Amino acid sequence: MKERTRTTAQFSCRDCGRQWNALGEVHCPECHHHFSGYTAFDLHLAGGQHRNPGEITHSETFQRLLVGLRTPLGTIWQGSCRRPSESRAS
Ligand SMILES: [Zn+2]
Ligand SMILES: [Zn+2]
Repeated sequence: MKERTRTTAQFSCRDCGRQWNALGEVHCPECHHHFSGYTAFDLHLAGGQHRNPGEITHSETFQRLLVGLRTPLGTIWQGSCRRPSESRAS
C-alpha cells in the first residue's frame, strides 16, 4: 500500500492534527491555536488564561493585536503591528 498523502511538515499536534514546519512557531496544546512565535503566544496567554486570538485588542486603541494568516497548513496568528524596539526614547 502506498501512502497517499505524505506529510512534509516536521511537527504536528497529536490532538488536532495541525502541522507546521517552523521551529519557532508555537502551538497551544490547550486550545490548538497556532502562533508565529512566543510573542504572539504570550498575547494569547496574557493574564494567565487562554484568549481567543481574534479578540485580543489593545486596551486603548482597540486595535486587534493578532491577525490570522492563512497558510496551506492552517491559520497562523501573528502580531498585527511589528514595532521595532525604539519605543523607549527617553
Ligand atoms: Zn491556548
Ligand atoms: Zn493541536
